[in-house]
Amino acid sequence: MKPDPAPERPLSREAIRELLGPIPPERVELLFAEARQVKRQTCGRKIFLRGIVELSNCCEKDCFYCGIRRSNPDVARYRMEEEEVIAAARASFRRGYRSILLQSGEEKTPQAVDRVERLTGRIKTETDGRMRIVLSLGEQEPETYRRWRAAGADLYLLRIETSSPRLYRSLHPRNHLHQRRLECLHTLRELGYQVGSGMLIGLPGQTPGDLADDALFLKEIDVDMIGMGPYIPHPRTPLARQAGKVSPAERLLRGLKMIAVCRILMPEVNIAATTALGTLDPAGRELGLAAGANVVMPNLTPPDYRREYNLYQGKPLEEDGILGLESLHRRIAAGGDELVLDEWGDSLHFRRRIRYSNGKLKRP
Ligand code: SAH
Ligand code: SF4
Repeated sequence: MKPDPAPERPLSREAIRELLGPIPPERVELLFAEARQVKRQTCGRKIFLRGIVELSNCCEKDCFYCGIRRSNPDVARYRMEEEEVIAAARASFRRGYRSILLQSGEEKTPQAVDRVERLTGRIKTETDGRMRIVLSLGEQEPETYRRWRAAGADLYLLRIETSSPRLYRSLHPRNHLHQRRLECLHTLRELGYQVGSGMLIGLPGQTPGDLADDALFLKEIDVDMIGMGPYIPHPRTPLARQAGKVSPAERLLRGLKMIAVCRILMPEVNIAATTALGTLDPAGRELGLAAGANVVMPNLTPPDYRREYNLYQGKPLEEDGILGLESLHRRIAAGGDELVLDEWGDSLHFRRRIRYSNGKLKRP
């Protein structure tokens, strides 16, 4: 029998706000140690693997922070060939990956929708239904989400970016609506996806109070997984001008503290140590695991495309999600954890949610 849910620690908004503000290094260490302990109790030592394929850097939107926004003329736009995506999925499956994340800019044309539907179906079939498929393709129509789910998609990652409507307005053109993003998250849950969300951490004008609200928001909407990361300015974007002089170390620290707070608040969800952490520090991802994350997402995109998928500046390009697995194994083992292959890596939160609702999804 499964043990009862891990006891959730009461963390008030005020306590979270304080932790996310300036605190002395000893308190930071205590915070990380507590998050690690919670992680051990719920996730054990297992670190799940999820490979990312960056399908395309074409995007209809114009988020002020993002390097591949529509208005950046310096981006060499690409769309991976379908066979290239399938080849990446096959290679990762052979290597023991059981979860793959397809990400791209937001494209809503019928061709783009059909393509994702075909790719999802093919990956599922070619892996005998043994690969979890995660999509992160932005805001789409409910019918599109429904078709992709029917084709075999299991999870969907859509960051809310910030839970503050005010801050959201300052980061996006007027036709990018916070409300619409919330509706998408709701639809995804209704359609039976495992839902992931997250935010940008360290945005200009974002306060520790905003971040505390973000963490509580994720708990409130009952996410199954969290994919969040530090904001890293991209020089060819409007937001970079307001980014101020925040050091990479400070950006990293804020990201790590947010992971720790979320782990304590939501002991059983999956939390990814995202690429942006590794961009700020070569050991950033391992530090993320030590602060409470339990998922790593190696990049499987062919290098020529990867170079053009620059959401922010300085993304590491050399990592190879297939050839680099051995060294990833070692680095994770050095931190006392264990990289697991051949497992889907669904969060305990999701497994419990499904069981409790007897196969029927509860409303959030
Ligand atoms: N187009 C989809 C998925 C690709 S973008 C979407 O927007 O949902 C994936 C994530 O990249 C975004 O959610 C955003 O949080 C992150 N991102 C964009 N620009 C960034 C930057 N400058 N620094 C850090 N993360 C960034
Ligand atoms: Fe497009 Fe996503 Fe970048 Fe916004 S964050 S511009 S939707 S790729």
